[in-house]
Amino acid sequence: MSTKYPQHLLKLIAFFKLFPGVGGKTAERFAFSLLDWKSEQTQDFGKLLAQLPQMVQYCEECGCLKGEENCFFCNNPLRETGTLCLVASVKDVFAFEQTRTFSGLYHVLGGLLSPLEGLDPESLSLEKLKKRILEKEIKEVILALDSTVEGDTTALYIKQFFSSLPLKLSRLAFGLPLGSNLDFIDGGTLARALGGRQSF
Ligand SMILES: [Zn+2]
Repeated sequence: MSTKYPQHLLKLIAFFKLFPGVGGKTAERFAFSLLDWKSEQTQDFGKLLAQLPQMVQYCEECGCLKGEENCFFCNNPLRETGTLCLVASVKDVFAFEQTRTFSGLYHVLGGLLSPLEGLDPESLSLEKLKKRILEKEIKEVILALDSTVEGDTTALYIKQFFSSLPLKLSRLAFGLPLGSNLDFIDGGTLARALGGRQSF
């Protein structure tokens, strides 16, 4: 009979397996690594995890993660209020902020339309977004969604939903990765790149 891991270690491994991209072997490595931490460090980690649900706050208006008190974007007078970047998750906001090329507002959808995973149009709370667009007099909405079937479906749905508004809708250009040879590019990417071509 093989020797089994103690219960607490099995639980720890099961938690680590919940992380995206972490399989059984990696989860075991993480768990054993944690056993090597100094007791004080492990306790600090535990305390932080215990407090996390109270500490994490989302802005009621845009759905972004809030700072200590205010929303980094809605409460920032330096942000341009005429343009809204629509993203699927709070993490995407940080990806755009790191590019330092966008100074407008954000709106987090909280997911993409996916019949298989049960996310329907109602769960995206588009009525709330419509109200925000009208109240804030947003002129342009940038659909910054994944280039997947779910992203495409969501973008098309939103386009129809907002068709009556005097609004410029744009979608991220899907281009070729920098430094790539055309024969390594998959057909879908190439078709997008062709469709989204700009005058030169
Ligand atoms: Zn906000």
